[in-house]
Amino acid sequence: MNFYKLFICKFRNHQFNDWEYVYDHKCFQYRHCLRCGEEESRDNLHIWSQWKYINSECVQLKTCLRCGAEEKRKLDHNWPEWKYIYTNQCVQERFCLRCSEKESRENIHKWTTWKYITQKKCIQSRTCTRCEATGQREMHQYSSWISGVNCHQYRFCERCGFKDEQENHELISTEYTYIESGHTIYERHDHCKNCGYRIISPIAIGSS
Ligand SMILES: [Zn+2]
Ligand SMILES: [Zn+2]
Ligand SMILES: [Zn+2]
Ligand SMILES: [Zn+2]
Ligand SMILES: [Zn+2]
Ligand SMILES: [Zn+2]
Repeated sequence: MNFYKLFICKFRNHQFNDWEYVYDHKCFQYRHCLRCGEEESRDNLHIWSQWKYINSECVQLKTCLRCGAEEKRKLDHNWPEWKYIYTNQCVQERFCLRCSEKESRENIHKWTTWKYITQKKCIQSRTCTRCEATGQREMHQYSSWISGVNCHQYRFCERCGFKDEQENHELISTEYTYIESGHTIYERHDHCKNCGYRIISPIAIGSS
């Protein structure tokens, strides 16, 4: 009978009692088999408190109610809206509502809308309504694309007459493999189905 019990323990499973804490202020647990006496233990079975903020920091702490172990975690700051700090400058600041951490950023301009400077030219400018900053850009007002020969397209600016061009091929890709001076060459040929345009690019070179 005893032998049969040991047999069960060895080849099937033990009949453990419930896990129990052994010492008052430690988080160490223990159990034993009621049949064969085999012992097992495990550690770090803490009983955690709720997460709590530490004073005025963006860090939370939890404590084990048995052993006093602690764990901390960092939290995201609680940012309010950005605010301008000086009347005629474009610098903004904000302070975390919990820990007072400061962040600042520059060049947050309040731009007017883009406006052309002269009648026939295509330069636009804008100014910041807070500080002295100004910006410029080129902005043509194009007609729609017109098709030319050999897949060329062009368009004109209706303000200044500037001509803009591009090629607009319809490419078909084919891969070629051939042997040259004992080396295998891999190439991709892209050719346009509407004009004579062709471009050849090596894919990889291996030796045979
Ligand atoms: Zn057992
Ligand atoms: Zn503990
Ligand atoms: Zn904070
Ligand atoms: Zn500004
Ligand atoms: Zn223009
Ligand atoms: Zn073409």
